Amino acid sequence: MIFMPAKFDFHTHTLYSDGAGTVASMVEAAEARGLKAVALTDHGFELSMGIPREKLAPMLQDIGIAREDAGIQVLAGLEANVVDEWGTIDVDDESIRKLDILLVAIHKLGEARDPSELARDYLRRATNAIERHKFDVFVHPFYFHHYLAPHLLPEDLEDFVRLAAGHEVAIEINIKYRTPDEEFLRLCLREGVKLSVGTDAHTAGEVGRVDWALGVLRRVGARREDLILGRFLR
Ligand SMILES: [Zn+2]
Ligand SMILES: [Zn+2]
Repeated sequence: MIFMPAKFDFHTHTLYSDGAGTVASMVEAAEARGLKAVALTDHGFELSMGIPREKLAPMLQDIGIAREDAGIQVLAGLEANVVDEWGTIDVDDESIRKLDILLVAIHKLGEARDPSELARDYLRRATNAIERHKFDVFVHPFYFHHYLAPHLLPEDLEDFVRLAAGHEVAIEINIKYRTPDEEFLRLCLREGVKLSVGTDAHTAGEVGRVDWALGVLRRVGARREDLILGRFLR
């Protein structure tokens, strides 16, 4: 069966964190680009560029207004950050309950060491985050200044992907950093992990530019049902 691309973008930033566009402008751009759905996913509370906690309510209000005007599905989300090696994230449960979608990412690791140590640190944090928290998508996987997956053992990556499958955590194809690699995505598909697509757009001009990801999805043999989109479509 030929893969029919359903365009969606589940990773965007607005002025509420380090993006340059309003919620309304990002949603308008997503609709203009022919997406079926877009998620607004500003950074969590603990990063210096993250959304301040008291801005969550106005952000949700803005998204609600944009949703009423939009002809596409609009999801309210955050990109939580893993803050320590135990997988703690910087968004509390009460805030999470107000969201439609929760992304989790790693933006900080311990002291810089050799790449394989860095990769093991990353894997430990990611594994603990999945074991401890319920969330939807693990984003820009294994990307930390450069792509770390090649520094891990194949069996470690397999264990990680099986863990994600068991917890129903989707893996993102991140367009900004062009990660992960196709071999890793094929492993995800074999183990039944759903895939997400995110531009990581910080401007309206970048929202929904998903062609690269659609090419990747086609090459790895993804089908429509392998995408996380279906879980969120009305
Ligand atoms: Zn990120
Ligand atoms: Zn991001």
